[in-house]
Amino acid sequence: MKKEFVWQTEQFDDIKILRYQVPAFETLSARERIFIYYLSRAALAGRDILWDQNNKYNLKVREALERIIRDYPGDRLVPEFQHFMIYAKKVFFANGVHHHYSMDKFRPGFSQTYFRSLLTAVNAPELYAETERIIFEPGYMAKRVVLDEGVDLIQASANNYYSGVTQAEVEQFYQVPEGTGGEAMESRGLNSTLIKENGRIVEDVWKVGGKYGDCLERIVFWLEQALPYACNEQQRKAMRLLTDYYKTGDLKLFDAYSIAWLQDTESSVDFINGFIEVYGDPLAYKASWESVVEIVDREAGERTRKLAENALWFEQHAPVDGRFKKSEVKGVTARVMQVAMLGGDCHPATPIGINLPNAEWIRERYGSKSVTLDNITYAYDQAASTSGVLDEFAGSEEEKKLVREFGSLGSSVHTDLHECLGHGSGKMLPGVTTEALRNYYSTIEEARADLFALYYIMDPKLVELGIIPAAEVGKAEYCSYIRNGLMVQLTRLKLGDKLEESHMRNRQTIAAWVYEHGKEDGVIERISREGKTYFVIRDFEALRGLFGQLLAEVQRIKSEGDYDGARCLIETYGVKVDDRLHREVLSRYEALGVAPYAGFINPEYKPVEKDGKIVDVEIVYPGDFLTQMMEYGEKCQKFTFDR
Ligand code: ZN
Repeated sequence: MKKEFVWQTEQFDDIKILRYQVPAFETLSARERIFIYYLSRAALAGRDILWDQNNKYNLKVREALERIIRDYPGDRLVPEFQHFMIYAKKVFFANGVHHHYSMDKFRPGFSQTYFRSLLTAVNAPELYAETERIIFEPGYMAKRVVLDEGVDLIQASANNYYSGVTQAEVEQFYQVPEGTGGEAMESRGLNSTLIKENGRIVEDVWKVGGKYGDCLERIVFWLEQALPYACNEQQRKAMRLLTDYYKTGDLKLFDAYSIAWLQDTESSVDFINGFIEVYGDPLAYKASWESVVEIVDREAGERTRKLAENALWFEQHAPVDGRFKKSEVKGVTARVMQVAMLGGDCHPATPIGINLPNAEWIRERYGSKSVTLDNITYAYDQAASTSGVLDEFAGSEEEKKLVREFGSLGSSVHTDLHECLGHGSGKMLPGVTTEALRNYYSTIEEARADLFALYYIMDPKLVELGIIPAAEVGKAEYCSYIRNGLMVQLTRLKLGDKLEESHMRNRQTIAAWVYEHGKEDGVIERISREGKTYFVIRDFEALRGLFGQLLAEVQRIKSEGDYDGARCLIETYGVKVDDRLHREVLSRYEALGVAPYAGFINPEYKPVEKDGKIVDVEIVYPGDFLTQMMEYGEKCQKFTFDR
């Protein structure tokens, strides 16, 4: 009898834990599978870096939690212990004491006295003093990333990227000197902690032998084990640059690696491993450590191949000012992949698409590589198909039918367009850098990519290219986007809070802007039925026109570096929340009993050995989140990790 695959294993607080499958793994050669095994080790080896980056107390807190979970001899069925376990799982999920999305510090549901008694029972009373304040004092390091106006963003944020410096000092330290043409031609600041030493501001660089040296040494070790199994010479070249960069901390090597990596478009197994995304830093200089190992999904790859081939057509026909358009589109490579392993800032919560490198000057000169993570989207869809959210928030039977039939493809194609074309489109005016938008940069950049996707998903060109079967796919995506941007995503927010996270700000900015600007013409109708609010799209073509108008404006803001324009747009549409609607959405959602956030349990790779040599690798799908977290905690600290 075939056992049904369990997509969702558990739910706690606002989190649900899912699993993903990697069917492509079975189609690989033993050599490719061994490559994945080593890369997956490298993907897990940097976990502690991320924990420390998120907050300087995180590793201590984790040590305390792990000790108790492993050794506590007392009653585990009492309510207080249950509350302790929920707190622990939330911390594991978020890679630290702050919520991974809202950035707010978790509130423990157990007392200080109880926590102290647990630590005493496992012979680790000293951990109490070291963790008490961060766990129990609500106002202390209350938010991981603060993006509010009018405060010192560096001092107010509880992340661990800076020490003893002010926002003004950071901005000055990384200012591009006047008269250099303005455009930064190398990455700066990505891989260091900025500290004040004897009154001088210096970078404490993350490298082997430097800060995070132990972890980086382990990552390098596994990457070097993987090297002989690389798919081709180009990939090997990129891998050597990556390990050299980890050894030296030299960002020029990272840039060279990024270029070599994006030029490898042939490998059947690919990976990201590095200090990549800057969302954890309010000023977007410092990058969190992450890793994703992926396998090419050849069938689904047809879709993005067609988009990439026509990249110039999309660029030329975009509804933006000609001055902000590229005259040629370089090396947009888009691939549909299946995730084989997630690590660092991509685990347990994960993106569904990735476009790299982030360095604007590399993108303009060399292009970028984009991946859609199809098996993750598939797992989400499988888990969501029975949740009832669509039925609750969709405004009409027609919409439900449309979304059931075409929604999954719509969201995949949106991701393809967003990653493969959106982020790579457009250009900066001479002398303008992306730093001009400061704390609004991430939101503007996401809005730009989303709007590009929304504008084109309704374009007849997609049907003509055979990427979608009919315009209904675009319509389904419009329904989902508006419903999510104006209502469903509010379920991720506590009553009274504003939107902080850049993807959420982006989605509400877009949805609220088109709603407002289409109001007179009745493009989107807000209706109320039995006390429930719905947004129903009445004119899809007009809505597409509005997305195009906003795309033009957002591209202008980025290309010109118009900070005031960015602030005005986002503060007007993307930050404040309608309290009454928020309350209504929360209560409707609560009635469904569905957790708004999801993350994944990774598969495990087990080497098959013969005469002391790895000859093949098998995949298994573990079923328990906490067990995996505890295992990672133990094994990441060992140099050799299984071997
Ligand atoms: Zn994006």
